[in-house]
Amino acid sequence: MPRIIMFRGRKALDTWPQELAAGQAVKTRRVGGKEIQRLRYGAEEKLAELGPEPCESCCANPGELHALGCYAERCARCAAPVDQCECAAR
Ligand SMILES: [Zn+2]
Ligand SMILES: [Zn+2]
Repeated sequence: MPRIIMFRGRKALDTWPQELAAGQAVKTRRVGGKEIQRLRYGAEEKLAELGPEPCESCCANPGELHALGCYAERCARCAAPVDQCECAAR
């Protein structure tokens, strides 16, 4: 049974630090048959406004990659959230 821990000031499953670490190893997304770079957290929008706050969804620190499947991750090409990205369809 996963337990709830405090991770970067938030409540998270105790498996989450490993999930986030695993996401760091995945540098690209496959879109329409091409590998494109994943955006690091903070690159997608006004980092100045975000400040040092970790990603509200996956707890990535600015400059880290999001955990895989984080809804806050943006497409490097179209800037849409990755779950709404239509680059593959173009
Ligand atoms: Zn995230
Ligand atoms: Zn896209």
